[in-house]
Amino acid sequence: CGIVGYVGPRPSQEVLLGGLRRLEYRGYDSAGIAVIDDAGTLHSRKRAGKLAVLSDDLERMPMSDGTTGIGHTRWATHGGPTDGNAHPHLSHGGKLAVIHNGIIENFAELKSELIAEGIEFTSETDTEVAAALIGREYTATGSLERAFRAVVSRLDGAFTLLAVHADEPGVIVGARLNSPLVIGLGDGETFLGSDVAAFVEHTRNAIAVGQAQVVVARPEGVEVTTFDGAPAEGEPFEVSWDA
Ligand code: GLU
Repeated sequence: CGIVGYVGPRPSQEVLLGGLRRLEYRGYDSAGIAVIDDAGTLHSRKRAGKLAVLSDDLERMPMSDGTTGIGHTRWATHGGPTDGNAHPHLSHGGKLAVIHNGIIENFAELKSELIAEGIEFTSETDTEVAAALIGREYTATGSLERAFRAVVSRLDGAFTLLAVHADEPGVIVGARLNSPLVIGLGDGETFLGSDVAAFVEHTRNAIAVGQAQVVVARPEGVEVTTFDGAPAEGEPFEVSWDA
């Protein structure tokens, strides 16, 4: 439902929770974040309920912070609104985290394929199937971008997806099909959002990612390509002051 990503010099938890707060108007049933710390460890926390449930939980039991992070508010379509079905969904031994807006129409076939290979699932979501596929491709390619690209071209339906990997701090990979994704360019920091509300308090310098495009975001900027890896252009725009 709501998506935010941050990569830059700042601890990301506050930026992510702030972005999710600004996306609350869309409605949601669960919230979660994942960050990668300086030691290259991924930390994730997710809770059914309002954003306050997650932020209270993080206050009571703080989690290591990191300068690369992704955050999600979920509107359940596949699986009820539980902690386990909330995003992020992890794979690759807890090193890879994925968040998703939309519906992956062909998730059942893909899930059977993975189950036949012995992969176990902990949620009822379509999203966890994408996370597991990217994890499997990561084992084969050793690259988040390559793993991600191999998977998005196999997914049908509507999705905005963001992924991070503990071994690649400073990188967020994203893609979209029939669902929006916007980039926010800051000074030495980069934001991603399902809409500009996710980052409008930090920058108004935005790029709309085009249909069936992949974005690799780093603190110094972004690279936009087609699903196949051909160079592509997003659509730059300035967020107006009344946004
Ligand atoms: N289909 C996904 C789920 O049910 C994502 C829903 C959303 O857009 O929040 O978990």
